[in-house]
Order: sequence, then C-alpha cells, then structure tokens
Amino acid sequence: MLNRRAFLKTSLGTGAAVLPVSAALNALQPAAIAAGQPGGASALQLVALPSRLAPIDPASEPWQQRIRRVGQTNMTEHDPVAMNIEEWADYWHNAGAQIVFVSVTGILAFYPSKVKFHQWGKFLNGRDFFGECTAAAKKRNMRVVARMSPDLNWGDALAAHPEWAMRYKDGSVQFSAEDPRLFKTCMFSTYMDDYVPALIREVSSLYNVDCFYTNGWPPLGSLPDCHCAICSKLPPADTPTYWRAFNDRVFQLWTRYDALAKEKRPDCFFFANLGGNVRGGPNLDRLGKIAAWFQADNQGRSYGNDQVWGCSLQGRVCNAIMDGKFAANVTAAYSTGAVSWRNASKNPDEARMWMNETLAGGMVPYYHFVGAEDGLGEDRRWQKVGSDYFQWTAKHDAHLAVRRSIANIGVVFGQSTQLLYPGPAAVRSRAYMHETTQGLYDALLRGRFAFDFVHEDRLEPERLAKYRALILPNVAMLSDAQCHQIRAFVDSGGSLMASFETGLYDENLNSRAEFGLADLLGISKAGDVIGTNGNAYYARIERQHPILDGFHDTNWIPGAQNRVPLKPVQEAVLSVVPGFVRYPPELAYPPISHTDEPAVVLRELGPSRIAFFPGDVERTYWLTGHGDLLRLLGNTLRWITRDERIVDLSGEGFVEMFAWETAPGYAVHVLNYTNPDAQHGWIQTTHPIGPQVVRMKLPAGVRVKSVELLRAESSVMFNADGQILEFTIPGVEDYEVAAITIS
Ligand SMILES: [Zn+2]
Repeated sequence: MLNRRAFLKTSLGTGAAVLPVSAALNALQPAAIAAGQPGGASALQLVALPSRLAPIDPASEPWQQRIRRVGQTNMTEHDPVAMNIEEWADYWHNAGAQIVFVSVTGILAFYPSKVKFHQWGKFLNGRDFFGECTAAAKKRNMRVVARMSPDLNWGDALAAHPEWAMRYKDGSVQFSAEDPRLFKTCMFSTYMDDYVPALIREVSSLYNVDCFYTNGWPPLGSLPDCHCAICSKLPPADTPTYWRAFNDRVFQLWTRYDALAKEKRPDCFFFANLGGNVRGGPNLDRLGKIAAWFQADNQGRSYGNDQVWGCSLQGRVCNAIMDGKFAANVTAAYSTGAVSWRNASKNPDEARMWMNETLAGGMVPYYHFVGAEDGLGEDRRWQKVGSDYFQWTAKHDAHLAVRRSIANIGVVFGQSTQLLYPGPAAVRSRAYMHETTQGLYDALLRGRFAFDFVHEDRLEPERLAKYRALILPNVAMLSDAQCHQIRAFVDSGGSLMASFETGLYDENLNSRAEFGLADLLGISKAGDVIGTNGNAYYARIERQHPILDGFHDTNWIPGAQNRVPLKPVQEAVLSVVPGFVRYPPELAYPPISHTDEPAVVLRELGPSRIAFFPGDVERTYWLTGHGDLLRLLGNTLRWITRDERIVDLSGEGFVEMFAWETAPGYAVHVLNYTNPDAQHGWIQTTHPIGPQVVRMKLPAGVRVKSVELLRAESSVMFNADGQILEFTIPGVEDYEVAAITIS
C-alpha cells in the first residue's frame, strides 16, 4: 500500500509535479466542456502510480484464479430429450470456456437422484443427464460447476414439510408467481439444513465436480419477507437487526455447504448467487472474506430506462470486496428487460457491451443462454456473438486479468443505507439511493475520474491510504466507529465530499440529533429535512470559489430537491434561497431572497479539503440532468482532489474509464457510451469516437516496452518522458483496452 504522506509529498511537494497541459489537450477542451465536463483544465496534476505489487506465481494460486471464461446453457426440464450433449460441449469448448455450469437443481433432478422430494424431470426417464454432461465437459478439459436451485419445490414436499414454506402474514403459503405448483422455501427452515446438504452429498458421491453453486438463494438485492413460525420470531423485515440475523444465517449455511463441498476434494468449494451491486442482499464485507467466487448475477439491463453501466458498477462493487479473488459477471445472451424472452438472442452490440463492462470492471466474462431446444437452441444467433468474443479475450488473457485498481478516489457505498434507509420523509422510495448512486456515478464518468467503490465496513487506514479523497453520497447510516475512521482518513491528509443526510443515522438506523461528522464537516443541523413544494430551492453565489468555475451571468444556481437546513457558517460560498411556488407564476418569487443558511460548506485543513452539500445534489442531478449540478459536482470533485489524477484520459465523448495494474504492466480500459441507447433500451449499434489521449506517471524505475490496443489489435507509439507516459488511442468503437507492457 502506498503511504499517504509519501503520496502527498510526490504530488504536492514541489511545483515540478504540476504539468502543463499540451496544446493537443487544450484543443480537445471545448468538446469536453460541451459534453458536460467541468471546464478549466489547467490545474490538472498527474500523480505517480504506487509501487508495483510483488509478482505472484500463478501455480501457487487456487485453480479458479486462472479461469477467464465461463459458459452456461441453463438446462430446462425438456433438455434431456432436446439438447445434443456433444454439440453443447463442443460449442463451449470451441468458444474457449474453461468451466461450464451443469444443472443438478433441487427443483428438478437432472440425474436419477434418490434424495426424497428431489423429483426427476419428466423427460429424464431415469437417464443420468447430469453425469453425461459432466463427462462430456471433462473429456474436453472443461471444469464443471454443479448448479443447484434451493428456492422452490413441489406440493408433495409441502404436504410432508409444511414448515419448509415461506408464509404470508396470514399464514398462507408463498407460491411462485409464475408457476403456482411450486412453493417458495424458507432459508431459515430445515429445508436448507437437510435437503440441500443431501443434494451436495449425493452429487459429491457420484461425480467429480469442481464446485457447487446455488441459484435463487440468497436474495440478490432485497431481503426475504417471510412469516413462517421461525421467521415470526425474528426482528421485523428490513430492519438492521433483521439484516444481522439474515447475514448470520447466510454465513452459517455458506460455510456449512463449503465444508461439505471440500469433504471429497479440498480444492472444491461452494458459492452462491450474488449481485444487486451496491444494494446486495448479504453483507458484502463479510461475504468477501469467505467467498472463493463472486457470482454477479447481473445479466443485463432489466428495465426500459436502465443505464448502460449496470455491469461495470457491479465490477466496482466486486473489486471493493474480493481483494483480487475471482469474480464473474453473467451476461444474458437471451433477452432481459421489461419484457423477457428467455430463449431469444438479445442485440449483439448490447451483449458485447455487457461483456466489455465485465472485463473493464475487472471481472471474468460468463455467457449464458437458457434451454437447448432442437439440439442447442431454436435461436442460435447468440452463439457466434459469444464464441467470437470469448476467442478474442483468449488472445489477451494476460492483459485482461487485473491485479488491482490504481484509482485515487474512493466512493463509500453504504450497503446498509442502500438496503435499509427508506429515504427522507419527503421522498419515501426504494429507488432513492439507487438514484443517488446513479447521479454521482454519472458525474464521475463525465469528469473522467478514476474511482473505486469502498465498502462502509472497510474503512481501515491501510485500505484508504491510496485515496486522495473519499466521497460519501448520502451515506445516511454510519456507526461511531465508521465516523472515527473517516476522521482518521482526513487527519492523515485525505479529502472528503459528503452530502445530505450522511451520518444523520447510526448503524441501527436511529437518527442522531447532530450529524455524526458534524465536527469534521464544520456543520450543525438547524432543523429537519425540507422537501420541495413547487420550485426547489436555489443556491445564491455569495463569493467566488473554484467550485463555481464556469458560472457567469447568474446570482443563483439550482439547489436540490431536498435539504437538511444548516446553521450559518463563516464566509459561506453559497447560501440557500428557499423554494417557493412554481404555479401560479404570479407567486413564483422568493419571499426571502437572502438567508444565512449555507448551501455548501467548504473547509481546508492542511492538505485536506472538505465539501459538504446539505442537499441531495447527486440524486437531483440524476432526476433532472441539470448541467449546473453536474458542473458543481465536477468542480467540487476537482477542488477536493486538487485535480490530482492517476490517469488523465482526454478526448471527446461520454466514456467510462478503468485503470488497472496487471501482471505485464497496466491496462487502461475505455468504454464508449456515446450512444443514443446509453440510458434507454439496448444498444443497437456502436457510435465510434475519436482520439483519446492517455497520460500517466509511472513509478520510478518502470520502463515501458510497448502499448498495444487489444480491440484494434495494433500497437501505438508512445512517449515516455521521465516517468510520464503519453500515448493516443486513435479512436474507440465500443471499447478499447490500452495494454501497457513494462520491463
Ligand atoms: Zn420463514
């Protein structure tokens, strides 16, 4: 880990670290500003990358660390008579998949199971379909994941074990919404203690599988709502105490299943379905410590207005909790969305972008289709898309495998806030924190910042030392210990940007009379949250400041939809002009034009810079797209970080950037979202963008041998002047990876 003080010294100690922006970059600025990026790039400073990690001998690592491609034909009850096993195995093998999922299941047996209530599929006819598929995969040197689904079972199991079912408040059984012959099993019941281990034991005794996996459990982005005899004794759902009980149960079962998996082979393990990105169900800090495989079941954009970066956001979550251990993101080759077609291929450009994001986010691509009617699917268009993509990745595994992110901004994702905080009283909405996250994410992308996510339970100094700044986007729930860790980060020279109700609740969702970080942020609460009735509030410019760069000809800029009123501060930069009616226009003027209520509070403490917005600015930006809010967020991010960049990526277009240390050197990934379909539906086609200039400052003594573009499959010229590396990516279609090899 980089020592923070050394880090600051290299970046701030002398003027020598301040680099003039080249004429070529200046020429690109107007376009960047037009695209919504904050203007005035002259202060940008490159800071040196941290010293490189010690090399790892790949042979010393667990086998799953070498997996780079995962394949799954998700088997249906009909597949034992529909699927051509040889064709199935050939497809995945020729594509380059190193491991395939084969269904054991739990809802239906794909082999002649003797476990009671493990009902054979109706087309199985006593055949060992699971065993034949496993043998076909093994013959081709592919590993096998034994896939189980413990979430549903049939009426005979319910009749014999009524205690296995999830129940509504009135005591009635919860059935599958789509097929009411199946009931939902309760994860606190003995179904999980008896039935699931029986499947693991049976499969282990009959076959040589490499790992066990449960689909359908634990829940991805929400918590169960069950009122069975056991669950009725638990704390109420969606409370912090329930979440702890839920986590204890998840970890109890996970470790038990893992121990069972290891009984036959110590390198075998158990893993479960995960995902939900920042709103994951199980506590991701605890889970990251035990999981050998993070299965991000984040298969595609689900709703019509989903943003394109749903997969790369998941990658940042995985990176925050897995510490370099294996993570794969599932790409649905079939049609995800507001209307689903499980057996129809999705737009190829959309499927490819999801796999691009998988790689850019540091995860392993995993391609997935459901059912194999007529041999390997009635619709086979997905097959070439996947095999072409996999075969391309196979040529570049060394550069696509990541070691660690080199980002210098940490975004704290408060998983408990994401799951449990209901939003302010004025806006009770499950989507509240989703919108907050998206607003900040969008602003970080448009400013081309290099950032990581950081889990709220991982704020220890060694982990935070690499960050110039931490961002707390309405992290409402913070424990005293977490507040203390954030104070320590600032004490050691780090900067901070926080907003709205950050720290106004403790870890049990009890509200505090005063902000948990009031002393650090220099703020004091003056009342309860004020929402909007008509016009939202404005922020009056009281004095010039770098966070206001680019605002001319106005005394007011938009505030946010909701705010926590603060007591006055010295030398406020922005003050609140309270909201007023929107209609009728006769009354649309401020009853009070000037107040001493701050709309932002800024502090400088030695090398640390601190910004607090009492409004929900990130979410309001997401809801409106208002360029003033984007400019304010971008300027503030640049001010708190002193515009220190670990990678400077300049050029036109709306892109997402990732920068990784790799075994051969470094990799800078550029995802091109300059596309009319970036925020709605699926990508229809790519819209290429022009030159992107990359500059970074290498650690002392590191020499660059080559810079290759993995998508264009060409080398580029580079300039290595002292520690500064500079090169130009001539253009980006949907995605490019600049792979830097060092000596
Ligand atoms: Zn229950």
